[in-house]
Amino acid sequence: MMGFQERYDEIREAIDKAVSHSGRKAGSVALMAVSKMHSYDEIENLFGIGQTIFGENRVQEAMMKFPDKRPESMQVHLIGHLQSNKALKAVELFDGIDSVDSLSLARKLQKGCEEKGKLLPLLLQLKTSEEETKSGFESPDELYKALEEIVLMPNLRVEGLMTIGPLGASERVTRLAFALLRQSLDTCNALFPSLGMEKLSMGMSSDFAWAIEEGSTLVRVGTKLFGQRDYTG
Ligand SMILES: *Cc1c(COP(=O)(O)O)cnc(C)c1O
Repeated sequence: MMGFQERYDEIREAIDKAVSHSGRKAGSVALMAVSKMHSYDEIENLFGIGQTIFGENRVQEAMMKFPDKRPESMQVHLIGHLQSNKALKAVELFDGIDSVDSLSLARKLQKGCEEKGKLLPLLLQLKTSEEETKSGFESPDELYKALEEIVLMPNLRVEGLMTIGPLGASERVTRLAFALLRQSLDTCNALFPSLGMEKLSMGMSSDFAWAIEEGSTLVRVGTKLFGQRDYTG
């Protein structure tokens, strides 16, 4: 079996290749290691070879897994649906919430941040394909509408948008979904220029090269980095 170092190097290379193939600037795409279902030991291994951004999809799991004091440069973001009743916990735990999918959740996060005296970076998640299981704002218009209020929340800093591509779809269909996210970011910036939103979190193990071609600035890779997740536990 390949070690972390080899898998890490392979993914870095694949990212660089997609970046240069699409004529984008070197270093313009960051890598998030999606560490859900993997141990803190594995996370530390990866951190040891230079990986700094990690993604978790459940508050409870992240709470159990990370030590109270993790290394300062280790950034952990939430990328899964957040229930309102866990918003305060999430504010304490994460360096950013990349999966904000409703106005009411943003209100809860603002309240939590106020209590904790924290400024929280976030991404708004948009549904860019039909799958029912996915969370996210249902349409760009719904997202723009929510932003009208979110921009006024002093403890939240909206940095960009996030989406999950259609699973198992063709290149054409997948790229259309990613293109929609990029266009929506442009519209956000036209409507709310003061935000200067720059981040597009899109692309996973199976589709990150396409996402980079469509403008992704952050790819979220789990399986290709850690191997298959074991759900049988
Ligand atoms: C699990 C997950 C990923 C990583 O998926 P892989 O296919 O294992 O790379 C990325 N984004 C989100 C939101 C996830 O839940």
